[in-house]
Amino acid sequence: MSYLVIDFHVHPKRSSKLIINEILEEMDISGVSHSVLLGKDFGGSIKRPEIKNWIKDAFLKSDVASHYWPNGVSSRSFSQLEEAWRELEYYLKERASSSPTSLKELAEIVNTHPDKFTGFGSINVLQDEEYVTEKLRELNTLQLKGLKIWPFLFNPSENENLRMVCEDFEKRRKILLVHTGCGPGPWEIPELAKYCNPKYLEPLAKDFNDLPIVLAHSGYYSRDNPGIFFKDALELSRKHENVWLEVSAVPDVVTDPILADKVKDAIGGFDRVLFGSDYLEYMQITVHVIKKARHLKDEDKAKILGLNAKQLLGL
Ligand SMILES: [Zn+2]
Repeated sequence: MSYLVIDFHVHPKRSSKLIINEILEEMDISGVSHSVLLGKDFGGSIKRPEIKNWIKDAFLKSDVASHYWPNGVSSRSFSQLEEAWRELEYYLKERASSSPTSLKELAEIVNTHPDKFTGFGSINVLQDEEYVTEKLRELNTLQLKGLKIWPFLFNPSENENLRMVCEDFEKRRKILLVHTGCGPGPWEIPELAKYCNPKYLEPLAKDFNDLPIVLAHSGYYSRDNPGIFFKDALELSRKHENVWLEVSAVPDVVTDPILADKVKDAIGGFDRVLFGSDYLEYMQITVHVIKKARHLKDEDKAKILGLNAKQLLGL
């Protein structure tokens, strides 16, 4: 059986280099006809004392021995922990904000290949209101169809700028894609990734019930604790029909029969489940394992791989 395949989670850059031709090639090999490309706008926010303070506090109290500090901290003194913190602070200030993909850059790629790509921009909602208002206007002018956020540094339901975006998006029928689960580097530490628990999106899902909110990685992703916020993702999607699950980096969510059953139970089928790859290297294999999953009906595979995304994106 042949399927329409739409990848809901593709980054246009590797390090700081655009890899559009590589992406197109991989899409071709994998049988992916369309991809959602994501922008990236981080940075600066760690300088704000209220953010820096909670992160520092969470880091120093966390079980860094088994996570960030590979050799363990049990025999280390506090000053060495402070040293570890300075290293993390440097990472957050410099590396985590490097190689942005601007709204303009993203729109240019999408406009060059409109049949191949849909663009979801990124706006750093931790900047001031003026910045976010201006970027939102730009995103709309450039006709980008959604926004990707990574709520590592903040509680998404308490951020006024994000609320403003949600209000605007609900009217314009745009889509919010939210990173859920742990992340690379220090974001593997559960205490630091706490706001990437989908439960913090509940007030937004409730107040903007016409806004599609897509949970990237279904709350499942973590290198050390796979499935970390999966329960919360299921609960949120069970309660709110505008919440969608996206399986990039975690195809197990639909290819493992036990997990797939939980998804089916939470949302009454697979109507709000989206295929994504995240890492280009996984595109082909992720499509393959979903196609081969024995416990899924052909019609469910078709929905997960592309039909749901087609409907959501209005393609
Ligand atoms: Zn990603």
